[in-house]
Amino acid sequence: MARIVQKFGGTSVGDLDRIRHVATLVKAEYDRGNEVTVVPSAMAGITNGLVENVNAISRLHDTREYDAIVSTGEQVTAGLLALALQNIGVPARSWAAWQLPIRTDDMHGKARIKEIETAKLIERFGEGQVAVVAGFQGLSPQNRITTLGRGGSDTSAVALAAALNADRCDIYTDVDGVYTTDPRIVPKARKLTRITYEEMLEMASQGAKVLQTRAVELAMNQGVRLQVRSTFEDAPGTLVVDEDEIVEQQVVSGIAYSRDEAKITIVGVEDRPGIAVGIFGPLSDAGINVDMIVQNISAESGRTDMTFTVGKSDFDRASALLDEIGETINYRSIDLDDNVVKISVIGVGMRSHAGVAKQMFGALAEKGINIQVISTSEIKISILIAEEYTELALRALHTAYGLDQD
Ligand code: ASP
Ligand code: MG
Repeated sequence: MARIVQKFGGTSVGDLDRIRHVATLVKAEYDRGNEVTVVPSAMAGITNGLVENVNAISRLHDTREYDAIVSTGEQVTAGLLALALQNIGVPARSWAAWQLPIRTDDMHGKARIKEIETAKLIERFGEGQVAVVAGFQGLSPQNRITTLGRGGSDTSAVALAAALNADRCDIYTDVDGVYTTDPRIVPKARKLTRITYEEMLEMASQGAKVLQTRAVELAMNQGVRLQVRSTFEDAPGTLVVDEDEIVEQQVVSGIAYSRDEAKITIVGVEDRPGIAVGIFGPLSDAGINVDMIVQNISAESGRTDMTFTVGKSDFDRASALLDEIGETINYRSIDLDDNVVKISVIGVGMRSHAGVAKQMFGALAEKGINIQVISTSEIKISILIAEEYTELALRALHTAYGLDQD
């Protein structure tokens, strides 16, 4: 007997037939004698619709009411799935987060899980009952409903798996695993049988949409065995594991891309101590996340150019803020460019291999692609290029690192 958490994404529960199909996948685990907890997302498109309704009625909404509204999609699928399970002879009941509860902080809209009480679930396992727990939601210290950020039911599932000490957390989705890069852009992309937590974390935070970043972080910290697999095909997916469980480590395991960033250059800013904090301090105070940063030498002496990237959704606020601080910072001009893409090559093998960057720059040079910004970490190299080169660059890099499927 094993204890298993199964998480199903929005397309997997996208209509009633799919919910019936999901019930058969749960039944299969149940029939093997396992203790099963199921975590469904809302039906595809439902959460977006709820968010639109909130924004339509109040742009400057009370985030506690936002959460009360957008959390409802999961409650519907949890109930429907419990019924579908009962219909095929599997004892099941739905649980809203507050009924356990799943305790979070009070950062509405992006709350963090603090603690999950599992006693009731474990008691019901003993009676042979399957638990269907609504994903994405939690309960604040003030007893208000919270949500965990978009894509947050991945995190619900991982947190439940950790709290229940589950043997496995299976993330069922509409793709059959984690690929070396987006197969819609690079047809030669390969499905990875295994990937390390660290690589998965970088892939997710650098734009791969298959798992919520926070869920991967939690799985890594809690040692939860994660598997990404398909709801619609019965095939092994991708296992997210510790580094020592990977037999043949590639230098580069995957290539992620993000079109969600925009580039800002502050031209001719004074080159003196305090300038960086004068720029990035106010951005940070406004909750604007800055990702890549380069400081260049300017043609004019005593002055420099500062280039950095922010999320596209923060672009307008960032440029308004820079206008505001223009007096104290005293720069010549500002250059805004949202026609960029960030491409990241990722692999734990980079720690022990030299020449990974050179290979990247060489492959891009050969295609005549200009690199605008570079940043690196221990297991990742990211570059910023013009958006129109996304496909060309991804394919060239995929080939250059020997990732193409034959
Ligand atoms: N339904 C929520 C969303 O769309 C949570 C999830 O699907 O993971 O963000
Ligand atoms: Mg999702």
